[in-house]
Amino acid sequence: MMLLLATLLYLPVIQSQEIIAHRGFWKTEGSAQNSITALMKADSIGVFGSEVDIWISSDGIPVVNHDATVTLDGKKLRVEDTPFGTLRKVKLSNGEQMPTVEEYLNAFEKCKKVKLIIEFKSHTVKERETELARKVIDMVHQRGLKDKVEYIAFGIHFLQLVRQLDPQASIYYLNGDMSPAVLSSMGVSGLDYHYNVLFNHPQWVEAAHKLGQKVNVWTVNKAEDIQKVIDLKVDFITTDEPLRVKEIIKNR
Ligand code: MG
Repeated sequence: MMLLLATLLYLPVIQSQEIIAHRGFWKTEGSAQNSITALMKADSIGVFGSEVDIWISSDGIPVVNHDATVTLDGKKLRVEDTPFGTLRKVKLSNGEQMPTVEEYLNAFEKCKKVKLIIEFKSHTVKERETELARKVIDMVHQRGLKDKVEYIAFGIHFLQLVRQLDPQASIYYLNGDMSPAVLSSMGVSGLDYHYNVLFNHPQWVEAAHKLGQKVNVWTVNKAEDIQKVIDLKVDFITTDEPLRVKEIIKNR
């Protein structure tokens, strides 16, 4: 028994990567990017996280959408300049209505395992970003989901906002232009960069780990790139192909 325990203790720790389904698990029957279905499907395949993109409507309703614009009756509308009543008419490719963040969180409460990775999209006016972050972090806290939600953003304003509003929350920076040392000095939890940035700065993974930060990478879909980011020892892989990444990790 003691021998077995000792052997187990001295086995090298095999570090594995966690998978985050980019915009939920949408490449599957009946799903669509950033739909509530995509969130539930991500939960059903047992991945670490399901990512989602959010904006605030012109009348202050946090909504789920990737692009800065939506097309309605052939017209392009900027999400941040459009009232919710109009945005509500937008249909996703699976027939769902564009969800509000409130509806998304209500569905998320029913998820068993998956974490929600919320991406705050960059707005043209800082005050709108503040309003969005305040409202969403409030909703997350009111539902007791604090430990199940992480945040990501391209905008530095959001990094500061999340730190102010929830000092313990995980917040990762997406824009690829700051070193782990700089991010650490800003109190950011880690980097979440495009894989090409990490291929150009492979040393950033170890540097981040030495500073106690985590490394996430987006959006890795091709088998050879998935292998490469695993070799780099990143902590999380954000992908449109969660089942492929799962399979590759399992077979290594
Ligand atoms: Mg995103």
